[in-house]
Amino acid sequence: KRLGYAIVGLGQFALNQIIPSFSESKSSKLVALVSGNRDKALQVADRYGVDQKNIYDYQSFDRIADNDEIDIVYIILPNALHAEYTVRAFKAGKHVLCEKPMAVTAEECETMIRAGREAGRKLMIAYRAQYEPYNLEAIRMSREGELGKIRLVTSDHGRILDPKVPADQWRMVKALAGGGSLYDIGIYSLQAARYITGEEPVEVSAHISSDASDPRFKEVEDLVAFQLRFPSGTLANLTSSYSTSSVKRFQVFGSKASLVLDPATEYERHQMKVKTEKEERRVQIPEGNQFAAEMDHLSNAVMENREPKTPGEEGLRDVRIMQAVYRAAQEGRPVSLDTTGATSR
Ligand code: NAD
Repeated sequence: KRLGYAIVGLGQFALNQIIPSFSESKSSKLVALVSGNRDKALQVADRYGVDQKNIYDYQSFDRIADNDEIDIVYIILPNALHAEYTVRAFKAGKHVLCEKPMAVTAEECETMIRAGREAGRKLMIAYRAQYEPYNLEAIRMSREGELGKIRLVTSDHGRILDPKVPADQWRMVKALAGGGSLYDIGIYSLQAARYITGEEPVEVSAHISSDASDPRFKEVEDLVAFQLRFPSGTLANLTSSYSTSSVKRFQVFGSKASLVLDPATEYERHQMKVKTEKEERRVQIPEGNQFAAEMDHLSNAVMENREPKTPGEEGLRDVRIMQAVYRAAQEGRPVSLDTTGATSR
């Protein structure tokens, strides 16, 4: 059985990655589109066999409540709109898959979690790397001790923010993006540190560097370097940037071996190496379609009434930690976190 998805927002990521991936999914199918641009929606509907009666705009969105073909709403809008559309989807009685970052503030995340609970529906955050085979293998090796004791995780995510690209225009506006490189791609560095160690950070320190004369960084930050301390003593050294050429990697340094995944959070063509004192070997496993795997994970969780692996609480945790990163940078001193990611002083 396949559950029906409504895709909300027909932007770059929805059109190029998500919608084409339904063809590789086993328990998910595309049944509805929500867009402010009817012509675009009609073209997409035609290409992917979506019934024209299942095209909605942002005003008629709430009428999805009357459409039994839609089980799950996948929100792929600018970050500041995630909370509103998640709550409206729950009110319509649907389950929700929401893009990262979950929302702009911790309060919004809490509202989203509460709305899902009250509706008795599932909420999952689209942390695709946690459904991607190379990342899963790196997690397994790290957690099962194959690298020895993990002492350090480093991760870097950077790219050039381009004001000519529509998808980057709202990313320069704080009211839509919520934050800069940290919210957009630093979240992958943060996620890597958390899922590799399986621990929650207890302290964060941070530096931010943005060129004030660069119009791209009038409202949102450019370069962020932050460190996390985990309860076991493991440290993470993490970065994100909107002004350096593309990088999406992490490294895990253990007492027996180190592991490099570079690229780590690409859509495909991941490369993994493990290095010991004696040898360096390449680890090759079959690539999978992480987007299809992610959607199928939620579909199966709904059908089997299980909590998804990356629920709203996971998204809330990251938003709290990213807020602490901003605070640590602003105050110029480390910020302590409790186990939920909330600042404890
Ligand atoms: P995009 O600009 O290409 O898509 C956003 C869509 O929202 C556009 O179609 C736009 O028309 C629509 N929209 C509706 N209301 C809007 C408004 N008020 N202002 C601006 N746009 C509005 O951006 P994108 O790169 O596709 O990102 C969309 C979301 O997906 C973001 O939350 C982003 O973080 C996430 N994303 C995730 C990944 C991933 O790998 N998981 C990759 C890219 C983007």
